[in-house]
Amino acid sequence: MKDCIFCNIVSGVFDAVDVCENDCCKVILDRFPSRPGHLLVVSKAHYENVYDVDEAVYAEMMKTALRMAKRIKRVMQCNGVNILQNNEPVAGQTVFHIHIHVIPRFEGDEVTVAWRSSEPSIEDLEAVATKLRTE
Ligand code: 5GP
Ligand code: ZN
Repeated sequence: MKDCIFCNIVSGVFDAVDVCENDCCKVILDRFPSRPGHLLVVSKAHYENVYDVDEAVYAEMMKTALRMAKRIKRVMQCNGVNILQNNEPVAGQTVFHIHIHVIPRFEGDEVTVAWRSSEPSIEDLEAVATKLRTE
């Protein structure tokens, strides 16, 4: 896609600091990282997000993210790791080419990945599950 930042990075038109790659994806450093070591696993082919990505490609991206999480833990000596993937603006997606964030976490780092918990009744949970059980 001509106007897509990550397509241009994958094809080498735009620069990025890359870490490694395989047949299906490229691992690059986030240009605006939450903390040093914040990586992005970017698919080589253009998919907007989880609704259109090929399942085998996504599986390979997740496998890569998992390996990178272990590498980040070892190399950055962090206290924890987040693996995140945003779909649509309301969920935080700003670049519309699928990618997985792998973020090293340190005690007191002030990176926020947060939501307010609620405590629905079991009946309410069952009602939601009933909806989700239908194909
Ligand atoms: P999203 O908000 O879509 O889940 O994540 C997009 C990520 O891409 C952000 O963390 C942002 O910092 C990163 N980003 C935006 N533009 C560029 C760029 O030109 N190069 C790189 N390496 N990362 C970028
Ligand atoms: Zn793209």
